[in-house]
Amino acid sequence: MRDYVIVGAGSAGCVLAARLTEDPDVRVTLIEAGAPDTALEIHIPAAFGKLFQSKWDWDYLTDPEPGIDGRRRYLPRGKMLGGSSSMNAMIYIRGNRADYDEWAAGGATGWGWPDVLPYFLRAEDNERGPSDLHGTGGPLTVSDGRSRHALMDAYIEAAQQAGHKPNDDFNGPEQDGAGYYQLTQRNGMRCSAAVAYLHPAMARPNLEVITDALCTRILFDGNRGIGVEYERANELSQLLADREVIISAGAYNSPQLLMLSGIGIAAELQAYGIEPRANLPVGENLQDHINAGIGYLTDTETLMTAETEENIALLQNEGRGPLTSNIGEAGGFFRSQDGLAAPDCQIHAAPVMFVDEGLGLPVDHGFVARVPRPGRDRRTARAGPAPAGGHARPRIGQRRRRLGVHQARVPDAVPPDQHLRYRLRGRPAAAGARPGRAARGGRLRHAHRDQREHQRAHHHDRRTGGRPDPLRLSNRRETAGQC
Ligand SMILES: Cc1cc2nc3c(=O)[nH]c(=O)nc-3n(C[C@H](O)[C@H](O)[C@H](O)COP(=O)(O)OP(=O)(O)OC[C@H]3O[C@@H](n4cnc5c(N)ncnc54)[C@H](O)[C@@H]3O)c2cc1C
Repeated sequence: MRDYVIVGAGSAGCVLAARLTEDPDVRVTLIEAGAPDTALEIHIPAAFGKLFQSKWDWDYLTDPEPGIDGRRRYLPRGKMLGGSSSMNAMIYIRGNRADYDEWAAGGATGWGWPDVLPYFLRAEDNERGPSDLHGTGGPLTVSDGRSRHALMDAYIEAAQQAGHKPNDDFNGPEQDGAGYYQLTQRNGMRCSAAVAYLHPAMARPNLEVITDALCTRILFDGNRGIGVEYERANELSQLLADREVIISAGAYNSPQLLMLSGIGIAAELQAYGIEPRANLPVGENLQDHINAGIGYLTDTETLMTAETEENIALLQNEGRGPLTSNIGEAGGFFRSQDGLAAPDCQIHAAPVMFVDEGLGLPVDHGFVARVPRPGRDRRTARAGPAPAGGHARPRIGQRRRRLGVHQARVPDAVPPDQHLRYRLRGRPAAAGARPGRAARGGRLRHAHRDQREHQRAHHHDRRTGGRPDPLRLSNRRETAGQC
């Protein structure tokens, strides 16, 4: 028997499992649908794009989005120990203090800024040392990036020229301004929640971790959750908990699991053939941040060619070099209008071309600035049909507002082989410009190319339902990505 069953070994699940089992009298079982986090690409910072649409990714799509011409957006989600913290961009960013205070004012007692700050401090091991707003000695290593590309220096300088102040700590007293992000990295490698919390706790006799196990429903005794059913190697098993069942399966899968267990909007559950147990608005009011990316070509060498023998050796031997890059190295926070309590726009700047929602390969040296709108777009997650149980994909409903970006169309006069350049530059490139750049990619990039091209075609068909997608190339200019 156990005290707690935790479903999902992602950012939240790893922390919970490790913290709860600090008490040797508390017994915990952690169930994870994905595999142990063994792949090198998980731990090499610059390689996280290689996890997209692989076995390490739930690989979700939204419903067709009217705001982006009916396309479906790719939503990567980590499926492994560490969950999305094993495939994210490692930017160490807390919410703005005003966000937490808004939650508390809205009734979430205990979630105001003064309530959550001590937990941030306790979690953190910031290499810059302790301060009022930063902690040391915690499990989560927070570091300055070891790869700072000259293009990012130029971006920060340009932001200052445009009137924005420099900011070297977005988790400091002020969030506004432009600068480099601090990263959840240790010695130049990813410090996921699994690395920070779970791995050091794995040897504890009071912690059991079951991987490759998909939780299919919550078990109840009356109205009380008492355990879970899960599927592993085609066999269904059950686990009971004396004290609590904790669902930490992520923003899409947690509501799905609740709905598959009969907790959700009753009429919708019935439409899927699920017997309602509690009529609650589960899956409503999901807030995420769509990105609008603007790409530019450059003559400066970018991370596109970073995967060299020399840089691999630099990473392995010294934990340095461009492969330690988290891609979104720099950025900033801005206010779209005066009078706001907090910034409402964030920028991710990356010294490499961002192609097709991160699914395509860079074909030239380029860089991108992406503007995600933090947490103001609302959509709904939905359970999949009942007969498929936990294997059905959650349905991720369309956002309710249109994306406020201009959808540029390539004029008919631009020949197809110039579309990408048009999208990036706003005009056709000179014929034959910059020949051979793509051929300078590194060894591993070439090894993955065929596979990625295949995936890209597959992704394109899924997203557009197989119909021609005239705006496909516009992704390079106004990329709808997800981070
Ligand atoms: C590509 C990408 C880039 C990102 N970049 C950043 C960044 O730079 N900075 C930042 O702060 N945030 C970033 N994020 C977001 C951040 O990683 C997530 O917000 C965070 O990891 C979510 O934590 P979670 O515990 O809610 O879910 P997750 O970490 O996703 O964990 C959920 C876990 O539950 C498992 N699971 C799901 N369903 C089941 C089931 N039925 N049975 C068993 N297990 C199940 C999953 O496999 C997963 O391991 C990024 C995310 C992505 C995908």
